This record gives sequence, C-alpha cells and structure tokens, in this order.
Amino acid sequence: MQCPTYRVTELLGDGIGEELSRAVHRLVAALPVNLEFQAVDLRLENRRARRTAIYDEAVASISETGFALKYPTTTAEESPNAILRRRLDLSVIHRPVSTIPGVPTNFRRELDLDIVRIATGGTYDDPGRMIGEDGAVSLRIVERRPVREAARYAFNLARKTGRRVTSASKHTIQKATDGLFEQVTTEVARQFPEVEHATELFDALLGKVVMAPEKFQVVLVLNEYGDFLSDMACGLAGSLGIGASANLGFDRAEVVRVALFDAAHGTAPDIAGKNLANPTAIFLALSLLLNQLGEIEIGRTLKLATLDLLREGVRTRDLGGGETTESFTEEVAAEVARRLAAK
Ligand code: NAD
Repeated sequence: MQCPTYRVTELLGDGIGEELSRAVHRLVAALPVNLEFQAVDLRLENRRARRTAIYDEAVASISETGFALKYPTTTAEESPNAILRRRLDLSVIHRPVSTIPGVPTNFRRELDLDIVRIATGGTYDDPGRMIGEDGAVSLRIVERRPVREAARYAFNLARKTGRRVTSASKHTIQKATDGLFEQVTTEVARQFPEVEHATELFDALLGKVVMAPEKFQVVLVLNEYGDFLSDMACGLAGSLGIGASANLGFDRAEVVRVALFDAAHGTAPDIAGKNLANPTAIFLALSLLLNQLGEIEIGRTLKLATLDLLREGVRTRDLGGGETTESFTEEVAAEVARRLAAK
C-alpha cells in the first residue's frame, strides 16, 4: 500500500534545533507516512540577515501547506513565536502536559492538564517604553475574538474528552482586560451547558494545581498566564523537555486553517551540539501534527511508544537516564515501527 504524502513547513531553529530536526527526520523515516518537509531557515543569523523577508517566506509556506513543525529559536531582537502567531493569526495554543509514571520528579502527584492559552495579546504584544528615565509602561491587550476562539476550542475539547474546564484570570485587579476575558468565557460556557466549568483567580490556581492537581483538566487562560502555567506544569512533570503544543488559527467557520506545532522548551544553549537534547517534546509535537493530519493511529502510537519507553527507563540525561538524543531516537523509531507493523 502506498504511504500518504503530506507537505509540512519545517521551521529551522537555534541551539538544539539542529539535533532535534535530525531526530525528527530519522523518526519520520520509520513511519508509514511521507512528510515532505519544506524548510524555512529561522536561525538567528538568517533572521538578522533577511529580517522581514524570512517571516514573509515562513508565512507564505505555512499558508500554503497549512501545517508547520517549529524548532526552538533564540529570542533576541524579536520573538519569532510572537511574530508568527500574530501574522498567521494563531489565536489558540493547546499544550497538553501530564506526569509520566516512573519519570523522576520532585512532584509526587499525578497531573494531566490540557492548557488552552490565548496565543496573542496580554502583555506580550507590546515591549513597552520608557517614560523619562525612571519609569516604564506597556500595554496589556485583550481582544474578544481570540478569547472566544480559545474558549470555544477549550469547551469543545472538554466535551469531546469528557473533561471539565477551569478558566483563570486576575479580573479583580485587571478589571477591563481580564474582565473582558471573563465576560467572553462566561458567554461561551453558556453554549456548553453539559461541560462543567469553574473559575479561579490565576495566582490561586497556581497554588491549587500544585496542591490538588486532580481537580484540573482543561485550563483556559490569557497569553502570559498560559506561558507561566505551562512551564510550571512541565517542571512538575519532571522536565522542560516534555511539553509540546499546537498553535492554531481558525477560519470563520471555526475550522483549523493553519496549525503550527512546537516544543515548549527553548534552545537549551547549555547542551546544544552535545547529543544530550531530549527529543520527547518535539516527538510529542510531531504526534499532535500527525493527529491534525488525520493520521490518528500513527500519532497515537508515536506518543504511547515514546512515553512507554520513558516509563521503562529509556531516557535522556535530563530525566536521569543514559540515552543520547541519537540513541533515544533510534529506540523510539524501532518501537514505533514494531508496534505499527504488529497492527
Ligand atoms: P530553555 O528551555 O532553552 O532551557 C532551560 C533548561 O532546560 C536548560 O537547562 C536546558 O538545558 C533544559 N532543556 C530545555 N530543553 C531541553 C531538552 N529538550 N532536553 C534537555 N534539556 C532541556 O530555556 P532558556 O535557557 O530560558 O532559553 C534559551 C533560549 O531559548 C532563549 O533565547 C529563549 O528566548 C529561547 N526560547 C525559545 C522558545 C521557542 O522557540 N519556542 C521557548 C522558550 C525559550
């Protein structure tokens, strides 16, 4: 049987990005699917040389393929993530984070969160400016449409998976911005009466997730809160190397128009080029991409094979194991191929 072929934009990154890209290509070669990668070079040197033109190229490629896999990029003069989110109108980030039994962590409880984060605005779209020499100010932006898209996505996800939604903000202090978030979220919640919904203040939520993680499933938050919560959740789960996310843009009918998948962690400059990077997050991002392509069985097998290997002790150094990026990748590729062949 011929393997289906999909075109996917591959956004090259900095630090451990190159090693992760090699790992992804090795793994994809073991899958019964052809991913034709269309590379766009988002490494810092090329961004500095080509400035806006490189983002034009990235946006044109992703708009055409509809799918992208992005490796981490250094945030220097600008944040490529923020630019791509704005230019592709990616209004929602879905970041699943769960503890993996057996993976060493300081946290003793089980955590299984679907963090749904509004991908634009908050305090991240305005770097701010100095007022005189001793003060600075920046704008905090909340817009109705991305909040509504994120809320609908969160409630749909909860309905599909039988989970409950918690939305969190600081509406008692940020009355206009977070108040608008609360208003839109409440409107959307009314359209999903069968989905359990609770609200929390964001600072209280952080404490409660640590103290009673079983109470939280789908969590809906504004941009920067989602950023903080995601890294905290990854830390509780044992490594920044484990989180992956889907960044989604929608059309008027709320159908996914473009989807960009990436790892939650950064470029890890301290271990770049040493064959120590944990590719789990980028493999989980690849699994989310395969799901979005409709290759659910392959995406699921990839995720489960990767997590089962971690559980059995096949791990890179950040998780207390002895595997290198390359040896871990070989183990995952062999395990996925074995499982798919047995089906
Ligand atoms: P980082 O995530 O790169 O590293 C934090 C720590 O986690 C380091 O000790 C690192 O070695 C470890 N780590 C991260 N990913 C790992 C992996 N896959 N395997 C094993 N260990 C891993 O965070 P940072 O040092 O704050 O940021 C470095 C650069 O990355 C900065 O320029 C930052 O702006 C950028 N960044 C980019 C993205 C992105 O492109 N999506 C996300 C976060 C940070």
